[in-house]
Amino acid sequence: MTMTASTATPSPKGPVFSSLPLSPASLHNLEQLGYRAMTPIQAASLPLALAGHDVIGQAQTGSGKTAAFALAALARIDPADFSVQALVLCPTRELAEQVALEIRRLARAEDNIKVLALCGGAQVRPQIASLAHGAHVVVGTPGRVTDHLERGSLRLGGLKTLVLDEADRMLEMGFSDAITAVAKQCPKERQTLLFSATFPPGIAKISQALMREPREVMLPAGPAATAIKQRFYEVYEDERLHAVSLLLNHFRPVSTLAFCNTKQQCRELTQVLRAQGFAALELHGDLDQRERDQVLVRFANRSCSVLVATDIAARGLDITQLEAVINVDVTPDPATHTHRIGRTGRADGEGWAFTLASVNDMGSVGRIEQALGFNSAWQPLVELTASNPAPLRPPMCTLQILGGRKEKIRAGDVLGALTKDLGFAAMQVGKINVNEFSTYVAVQAGIASQVLHRLSAGKIKGKTVKVHLLPV
Ligand code: AMP
Repeated sequence: MTMTASTATPSPKGPVFSSLPLSPASLHNLEQLGYRAMTPIQAASLPLALAGHDVIGQAQTGSGKTAAFALAALARIDPADFSVQALVLCPTRELAEQVALEIRRLARAEDNIKVLALCGGAQVRPQIASLAHGAHVVVGTPGRVTDHLERGSLRLGGLKTLVLDEADRMLEMGFSDAITAVAKQCPKERQTLLFSATFPPGIAKISQALMREPREVMLPAGPAATAIKQRFYEVYEDERLHAVSLLLNHFRPVSTLAFCNTKQQCRELTQVLRAQGFAALELHGDLDQRERDQVLVRFANRSCSVLVATDIAARGLDITQLEAVINVDVTPDPATHTHRIGRTGRADGEGWAFTLASVNDMGSVGRIEQALGFNSAWQPLVELTASNPAPLRPPMCTLQILGGRKEKIRAGDVLGALTKDLGFAAMQVGKINVNEFSTYVAVQAGIASQVLHRLSAGKIKGKTVKVHLLPV
């Protein structure tokens, strides 16, 4: 079972939220949630919706559509006014609850925005009491929302934004009349946003009746966004570290970021992995700046298979080709989980996000599921078999040249020495990083000792240089 918790991962080149007229607090909150760039539906619809237009958007679950309408609706809310200012109609209770959760996360930026879910299947009385206390945003199913309108417990006189989410499913479920009845109770001077995966004729009818000069945002078919495939594995405490090597041997990702909750765990895991022959390096607060820089260079140039890190140490790390993230320890904070898994699949391909959880972690997993709106899919550890008898090794090796910017060495000098003077092909050479006192050059693992030998005997910029092969 593969669970796609977030197909909403934006392309790494997607436009950034800061290009939108959002409040600084809201932008900060998006950053905290790990939303770096906009997904295609967000990039296409948010500028229009924030400018006040009615919008018809084509979007599916997982596309990031909730934030696409919620950010626009939230931007217009006055927290001091306790009338219902935004109403989101959803086809099912599950979706309504999920949408309400996402809106609460997005609304954290503002003080005291109350978001209330009104769904069928739940008791009416507590809902009436909550409405009496005031709610800025109501998310509900059409049946229950009409019920409250008829009782007089819900009033929509102060509504600014009406959202019809998954409109095609609402029509399929026979909610057409209920939607029209709800819209009749809303002020004419409102914004209406309609999102739907498909566009049967009923949608055109509804939009003609309820919307004003809507702008249409249609996206090309197919999954435009990258997919992060999340898998959860239940482990006993004493098999947690071993499970990491099982994952690596089974999936054989070239670059993996493994998150631990403590420095101690980082150290232990790195030792275990190295003892098993993996090229693993650790990144945590005990490293000085020079060590940290070297670790980052080696991970980014693909000469280290696994970087074992704490959350704080991994902050600001920007690696574009990351095949897998492993949550060796479950984080108690759902936003941190989003941050962690958002680092994989950031190139054009897919990414894996594995989470190892013991019985004691189930509370944290539950909070993550709730906050991110998905049900985790569990896999048995025994399913992990080594898919290749050869040990997983990185494609590149790093050579360290003693001498850097201080010695006026430039990347071009090193590449020139390797290709023109020593006869290696440019494609055998990877990233070259020139730091203050050292230069790191990645070369294909198979030629590393040859390069070491010839470079030590050769010259860069007319001078002999000291070179080391960094072992992992
Ligand atoms: P939705 O299609 O609204 O159900 O969103 C699917 C998932 O993508 C949710 O877990 C969101 O929290 C997440 N998400 C939405 N927008 C972004 C974004 N710009 N960057 C990263 N994740 C996002």
